[in-house]
Amino acid sequence: MCRHLAWLGEPVSPAALMLDPPSGLLVQSYAPRRQKHGLMNADGWGVGFFDDDGVPRRWRSAAPLWGDASFASVAPALFSRCVVAAVRSASVGMPIEASASAPFSDGTWLLSHNGLVDRAVLPAARHAESTNDSALLAALIFERGLDTLGQTVAAVAADDPNARLNILAANGSRVLATTWGDTLAVLRRDDGVVLASEPYDDDPAWEEIPDRHLVEVSDAHVHMTPLKGS
Ligand code: GLN
Repeated sequence: MCRHLAWLGEPVSPAALMLDPPSGLLVQSYAPRRQKHGLMNADGWGVGFFDDDGVPRRWRSAAPLWGDASFASVAPALFSRCVVAAVRSASVGMPIEASASAPFSDGTWLLSHNGLVDRAVLPAARHAESTNDSALLAALIFERGLDTLGQTVAAVAADDPNARLNILAANGSRVLATTWGDTLAVLRRDDGVVLASEPYDDDPAWEEIPDRHLVEVSDAHVHMTPLKGS
């Protein structure tokens, strides 16, 4: 299982989202507070953000976030209106390599999966970046299109009832998320909206998102709809 985070709003540095908060992804990489599966997230990390031309840029690694002095040095100089970041705890049997770390991308969307799914139930998708379940699931979601994210998640869950399918995806102007088996919280700030597997601080404004929901953030609006299981 992993922990992930997305931002949509005014330009912000990935460092301010990931590294600076008292319980940000950096701390969550060794001491997550709400993680139900796995003790730490030391099997890699990644961040993706949209530049001023709307191009997704990624920095991913197979090593723990806490050891990355280069990212800590450069991150405060980066700014973006839309960010997706994750720290990874690889599931048993999955490869540990940078291309298996979220966010995955099809060139338009950045996507992270927090969870586990039986790879045998995933129809072959052509452009998977790695062979871990999350990369295969990302490729399937890209192939089906993000407008059917909710249906794709419900269909995969019908084939693997034990699957946990928390997805976080962004295209620069929209953030989409699902809750299916794990935690997700939202923080509405004056300068933008954060979605995160767990709150990065103790601000009482964080709100839990109920399980089995689809979340859409655009223009500072947060819209939630229940997902139907089978
Ligand atoms: N199943 C995932 C993997 O091994 C676990 C990490 C996560 O929650 N995305 O890639």
